[in-house]
Amino acid sequence: MHSPFPKSVIIIGGGVIGMSTAFHLSEKGVKDISIIEKETVGSGSSGQAAGIVTCLQWNATSVVARMKTLDLFERFSNILEGYTFQQVGCLNLSSKEDYFQGADIRELHDKLGANYETYIGSELTEKFPDVMTQKDEYGILDPRGGYSEPHTYIPALRKKIESMGVKIYENEQVQNFKFKGNQITGVVSFSKSENKEKNYECDSVICAVNAWINELLSPIDFKIPMKNFIHERFVTEPFNRELNLPVINDRVFQSYVRGTEDNRILVGTSQHNPKNYIIEDSDFNIKDLKPFNDALDFLKEAFKNRVPIIIDKKWDYHTVGLISVTVDATPVIGPVPNLSGMFLCSNFHSGGFAYNPVAGLLISEHVIYGKTSINSDTYLPSRFSEFETKAYLDKTHNLEDLEVKRH
Ligand SMILES: Cc1cc2nc3c(=O)[nH]c(=O)nc-3n(C[C@H](O)[C@H](O)[C@H](O)COP(=O)(O)OP(=O)(O)OC[C@H]3O[C@@H](n4cnc5c(N)ncnc54)[C@H](O)[C@@H]3O)c2cc1C
Repeated sequence: MHSPFPKSVIIIGGGVIGMSTAFHLSEKGVKDISIIEKETVGSGSSGQAAGIVTCLQWNATSVVARMKTLDLFERFSNILEGYTFQQVGCLNLSSKEDYFQGADIRELHDKLGANYETYIGSELTEKFPDVMTQKDEYGILDPRGGYSEPHTYIPALRKKIESMGVKIYENEQVQNFKFKGNQITGVVSFSKSENKEKNYECDSVICAVNAWINELLSPIDFKIPMKNFIHERFVTEPFNRELNLPVINDRVFQSYVRGTEDNRILVGTSQHNPKNYIIEDSDFNIKDLKPFNDALDFLKEAFKNRVPIIIDKKWDYHTVGLISVTVDATPVIGPVPNLSGMFLCSNFHSGGFAYNPVAGLLISEHVIYGKTSINSDTYLPSRFSEFETKAYLDKTHNLEDLEVKRH
């Protein structure tokens, strides 16, 4: 039997996933919601993201989930002050061979009502004059896709949830959980600003710590088979004319490019540095990641013929973070097996920004109703109950060993 309506919920992790979760719980009537964040809100990978979103995913659950996420981004654009969803379209660009191999996936999109438009070679340049393609390259455009700027979305979502009564504790790290039998009853944290241990009582806990998930779960006997990878993005100085390009998930170069709200070009990838990154301890901070010297050269070379306007442009700033990928490259959303009141919402590969509106919705439904409004069983943590997780975690992996598809 599912637990009664939750009175108090603690969310661990103040990235976009934790904040979206707080939004949906509050909207559904949960009164006492706290977010505990070990640094500051958005300082994890969320603040570093490119914010790209498309619903053109590769399995039915994710297509349906992403269609819902697009509905929610459109809604957030109306209700979050200072935030606009930049619906410029999201183009999956691929070689001819890759395109024909994707026939089944397009059939799935047709079946589920995920609209797309197809462009071949120079047709793309006619539609988007700043984009160059080879004549045998194929583009599938999601006209509802686009991007959110993390630096406008994160403060806008924070302001919204605080206005709804959500409490946010920053510079405070959760270090342990409290249980009565198999029922969670609270968490123990350490506040860096107050320099003291703090104890919280609650009836549900949601772990939304992405790359740190296994460090957070160290007190319990359940882990996620996942690996973290360094991911970087670079932004040019502004251009003095309006740019005309969609977001491009470039499967030919395994990288991506988009414009920005302030008329720059942004490019990103993980491909130059494919070995998984090891977090040494739970104090690890995204700021500890060092940029790779050859990352920008890799991207400039990849995109010089795709968006030639970047060739002579100066590069202004860059961000570096982690993408966090499970063994099946599928997110983890749902209850921890054999524990009552404890939930996970993490490991969204390079798509956590895109997932955040719907992921927050789904996990809030798990907590409140014990089931979700769309079939999301493939996301349940229990799929790893029989998996040899320890052996998996002990091994080193390269990005190409995993079935990662972008955003
Ligand atoms: C360069 C780059 C570009 C990207 N581009 C895109 C994109 O275009 N589209 C897309 O969809 N996704 C993108 N991603 C992926 C996306 O950023 C992540 O999937 C998403 O931000 C995950 O959000 P989150 O809230 O789960 O994690 P995070 O933002 O990492 O938040 C987790 C938080 O948990 C906190 N925490 C950890 N341990 C504890 C603890 N014990 N106690 C309290 N707090 C704790 C951390 O400090 C952190 O703030 C990109 C990532 C990178 C690095």
